[in-house]
Amino acid sequence: MQIREEEIKELAEKVRKAIWSIGDTYEKEYIKGIYYVSELPYCLRRSYFFRKLNAKPIDNVSMAHGRLFHELVPKILENMGYDAEIEVECSTKRYGIEIRGRADAVIDNAVLEFKFVKSKKFPDIPGSYVAQANAYACMLKKDYAVVILVYRSDLDVDVVYLKRDEQSFETLAKRALIVEECLENGHRIPPGPTFEWECKNCQFSFICERIR
Ligand code: SF4
Repeated sequence: MQIREEEIKELAEKVRKAIWSIGDTYEKEYIKGIYYVSELPYCLRRSYFFRKLNAKPIDNVSMAHGRLFHELVPKILENMGYDAEIEVECSTKRYGIEIRGRADAVIDNAVLEFKFVKSKKFPDIPGSYVAQANAYACMLKKDYAVVILVYRSDLDVDVVYLKRDEQSFETLAKRALIVEECLENGHRIPPGPTFEWECKNCQFSFICERIR
């Protein structure tokens, strides 16, 4: 490959675009009646605004990091000698609402959820990861859910292993109902997040700052 001088400037831009687009294949519809497992443990007001304002998440570096690392999942599992199904889509209906998701991997009777997190400084994060992995296990009727936490800071790994818990999934699914009822009601908005850090870098903070 020979690059002409005028093409060199374009190369950085092409590489940038290629990196940001890696793994960006799961098209989500943020519409009333459809909710994603990955959003339900977090701020419901955010889920409400996506649907009310016909908005989509603005891509950020954390999301791009996550996608880049997720590209490694098949390779990691192959190196471990597992024959896994990768990116398994699933959905179910609860209370007239569709809940959708995509499990990172399924091996035999277990769902595997990989989370590539910044550091161990966020002890409150794994609860939401466990809720997601459990939801996939319930939707795919697998007995176990395994959350594999890989820390980007030092590439250390933690594993959370749990038995499928239908009751916890019902609790998560009911959160979608809160958003749905607010969209129907028109006069209420859902409560804010459990954790303050969720508002940091949220694309709707300019609205919430005015209604707090
Ligand atoms: S700014 Fe905070 S409360 Fe408002 S939608 Fe975003 S995360 Fe939720």
